[in-house]
Amino acid sequence: MDGTERLANFVKGGWSEPAGADYLNVKNPATGEILATVPLTPPEEVDRAARSAAAAFAAWRRVPAPTRIQPLFKLKTLLEEHFEDLSRTITLENGKTLDDARGEMRRAIENVEVACGIPTMMLGDFSEDVAPGVDEYMIRQPVGVAAIICPFNFPAMIPFWYLPYALACGNAVIVKPSERTPITAHKLIRLVEEAGFPPGVVNLVNGAASTVNALLDHPAIQAVTFVGSTPVARHIYSRAAANGKRVQAQGGAKNPLIILPDADLETTTNIVSDSAFGNAGQRCLAASLAVTVGEADRVFRPVLIEAASTRVVGYGLEPGVQMGPVITPESRDRIRNLINKGLDEGAEVLVDGRDTVIRGYEGGNFLRPTVLAGVKRGTVISTTEVFGPVLGLMRVETVEEAIELVNSGEHGNMACIFTSSGAAARKFRSQAEAGNIGINIGVAAPMAFFPFSGWKNSFFGTLHAQGKHAVEFFTQTKVVVERWLEGWSRKF
Ligand code: NAD
Repeated sequence: MDGTERLANFVKGGWSEPAGADYLNVKNPATGEILATVPLTPPEEVDRAARSAAAAFAAWRRVPAPTRIQPLFKLKTLLEEHFEDLSRTITLENGKTLDDARGEMRRAIENVEVACGIPTMMLGDFSEDVAPGVDEYMIRQPVGVAAIICPFNFPAMIPFWYLPYALACGNAVIVKPSERTPITAHKLIRLVEEAGFPPGVVNLVNGAASTVNALLDHPAIQAVTFVGSTPVARHIYSRAAANGKRVQAQGGAKNPLIILPDADLETTTNIVSDSAFGNAGQRCLAASLAVTVGEADRVFRPVLIEAASTRVVGYGLEPGVQMGPVITPESRDRIRNLINKGLDEGAEVLVDGRDTVIRGYEGGNFLRPTVLAGVKRGTVISTTEVFGPVLGLMRVETVEEAIELVNSGEHGNMACIFTSSGAAARKFRSQAEAGNIGINIGVAAPMAFFPFSGWKNSFFGTLHAQGKHAVEFFTQTKVVVERWLEGWSRKF
């Protein structure tokens, strides 16, 4: 892509530019270079996509599940064949390192693999003789048309938390990628097209808030999945639910890591540093607060400072780079302002990444890792999602105090503990109020066959992304009670 390409939508099996759309520039966050332009799809075109999906659904739901998964097997092969190009595209438009992009692609593919098990995962239940001559059974049927609304930070993985399951269960989908990272989705949907799903079963509409709202209001759409920030997740959840749709909305996070004095020094330091600064802190599972217990502060503070100050920041396509830019100049300003706010609130800066220029990439949105010590409870910096490479240090005296601190937070996406004590880890696992728990793990990302859990303000809904939860979300149960009395049948 050379900056002149106008990205198209994919509707009814064809690529088209939406009539009357405004266009936004898609920029490489490391260079500022324009990579392509993306349309802001107006409601009329959302309507065409929804009607195309609804029409295709009628036939697709009748296709037997073992046949429905055949294009997914083909898609898995295509994703492997295009693995390097897709990873590179993620780095170009998102900024993460090529290795991180490859890791993301692997996670996307794992979801395709798991969804190929739908014939088993969709099985129903049967109970014989619930009354004389009466049997009862439950079958799973697809829901209809699902809208999949995605954020910028995992442009390949997040659509695949949903799309393979929705399709395998017999639904039709409309994917709405982030307007900041739409090129990856464009390439992915080209492969989905090549995999051979019937026209209209998969649709792609580009855009931002108004396009999303048209999806939320469309009567032909029955299910909505969303991943993004908490305020928008709340909006999606309430508006789609008010329109009678089933919804799951994953929101933002503020993830604490607890470090006990008996944690392994080297492993813990590497893992904490990667959790806080990997992907430039733009992960919903990024460590935001490191809470040291007792003596751990004295031991871990110097090594965390060292790890933050030596992290190699630069263009994600260059070898040896460990951290790329943040997504936009506005995002960089917001992160700097939050660091400044933390300092106003009494924190002390141990490593300062605010003023960063990378030689040769002066047009990029770079920051270096920042470490703040003495972060106080209840302050803005201790409660607000930074979504940048900033780690706040807090100190408590006991594990109980640490758990209480974790549970006082508004978010519940992830909480981790670092220790060699099984008893402390066990207590933490049981009592911490978060949906994803790491024990000596800094980014507790569930594999595709587990739900991507999330609690409190990090999640609105009941069923989560991936695995069995996705199968339940994309199917509705039908219970049949059936009577066949002996006397009614002809004797043979
Ligand atoms: P975002 O909320 O700005 O945007 C997400 C999507 O919502 C985009 O497609 C965007 O076009 C759309 N959108 C934005 N504003 C809207 C509005 N007012 N009305 C309707 N639609 C709107 O999020 P982002 O900046 O792209 O992604 C980062 C956020 O996503 C972070 O908060 C991060 O924690 C969160 N996230 C959460 C998870 C999770 O599993 N909980 C995973 C990844 C990212």
